[in-house]
Amino acid sequence: MSESARTAADALRALLAEFPHTPRALVQSFGCQLNFCDGEKYKGILCSLGYTLTDEPEKADVILFNACAVRAHAESRVIGRLGALKPLKERNPRLVIGLCGCMAEEDEVRALLRKSYPHVSLVLGAGAMEQLPQALLSAYQGQKHTETGLRFAGLPDESLPTVRDGVFQASVPVMYGCNNFCTYCIVPYVRGRERSRTPEAIEREVRELVQSGCREILLLGQNVNSYGRGTDCKISFPALLRRLDAIDGDYFIRFMSSHPKDADRELIDTMLSSRHIEHHLHLPVQSGSDAVLKAMNRHYTAQKYLELIDYARSKSEDFAFSSDLIVGFPTETDADFQQTLDLIRYVGYDNLYTFIYSPRSGTPAAEMEQVSTEAEISERMRILLETQRGITARCNQKFIGRETVMLAEKYDEEKGLLVGRTRACRNVAVTGDASAVGQFVRVRITGAKSWALTGETV
Ligand code: SAM
Ligand code: SF4
Repeated sequence: MSESARTAADALRALLAEFPHTPRALVQSFGCQLNFCDGEKYKGILCSLGYTLTDEPEKADVILFNACAVRAHAESRVIGRLGALKPLKERNPRLVIGLCGCMAEEDEVRALLRKSYPHVSLVLGAGAMEQLPQALLSAYQGQKHTETGLRFAGLPDESLPTVRDGVFQASVPVMYGCNNFCTYCIVPYVRGRERSRTPEAIEREVRELVQSGCREILLLGQNVNSYGRGTDCKISFPALLRRLDAIDGDYFIRFMSSHPKDADRELIDTMLSSRHIEHHLHLPVQSGSDAVLKAMNRHYTAQKYLELIDYARSKSEDFAFSSDLIVGFPTETDADFQQTLDLIRYVGYDNLYTFIYSPRSGTPAAEMEQVSTEAEISERMRILLETQRGITARCNQKFIGRETVMLAEKYDEEKGLLVGRTRACRNVAVTGDASAVGQFVRVRITGAKSWALTGETV
């Protein structure tokens, strides 16, 4: 932590000590896993300053929305929720309401807050968590509106405290930012260029998690396959995986996201020969049409993408894939969409995350002419979801009768089901009891639904 951040933190602690009660903070994260991971750091910083955490806005002295800029719809919901906090601020003028995360990096969002949301007094850039104490101090000292740490391009301070949301599952960022500039995506503009944490820092964090009993560690980055590029450490992502896999213990390692232009056979080989890495790759394809992929600036063809799928399946026929898909990219025609359907049928994904294209101001795609109507795009989405449901149900059939291990994630009391995922990240729901949550459980698969494999504990 910098000297100025330390000084601000000390001044803030002294100020909070004067509060008539223990100050309470609410941090709400929206969007991708990386945002939730950042949210854990905001919570850690606030607790280190003397706040306790609350889920109730009415009881909070600080409310921090940590929000995502990727899609417009999600953003409008956050704006709506910020608006709904106005009466709380009127009742309690000392309440500090702030926006952080990549949504806070958008010029248009900040202009809107300045103009129409004066009760939102604190705006903190996505990569400037350690400046939170200064921003809060300014707000308490009467500053009506502060915008701190925008366009910050460094790495978060390794010594920042974290309050983890999960007990047996944890996320560990390996890198921040993105260099890829897919034409639809706002991330490179709001998260800056790629920068990687050192392998030593990542290994230390993973080792501590394993020693504290964590059962699944999710490594995060916008394109983990370019981990280490342009840094002094000269280590590739498969090499990082091998280093982490050498840590002894009973745990799974998962990672996301991989960019198909950079994921390669070495990655698959590393996963399959590992002790802990899941046999599942989240490999966002976005579209099955080469013309659309080109307009998206994705730097691969459907054929090249499928070569890696075929390679993985030739090594292990149960290797699982999931993907992100965008429906209604401006240039996408019905013929392009048919190619996407062909691709998803060929791959047989276990899971698909589907998004209707959302134009983001400042990205090249936002300037492209939309060739489809809204009705055509929703119909494509309907067909896509229905097709994928059929695919998952069919692919799941082959597991009936097999035994496998799952990490039990939660217990559904109403249905009496223990719900979890296998090492290939396949969803499983089995009869069992709540005491197994957080443990690896041996299960026998007796049924296959479109949402999960079903069965019993062995
Ligand atoms: N870096 C990751 C990658 O390339 O796979 C994904 C990051 S992005 C936060 C997650 C997903 O959001 C993308 O894979 C894409 O499918 C979707 N996405 C990004 N921008 C979008 C947009 N403008 N409209 C709709 N979906 C979008
Ligand atoms: Fe966005 Fe593309 Fe970067 Fe993923 S790789 S964050 S989709 S620009």
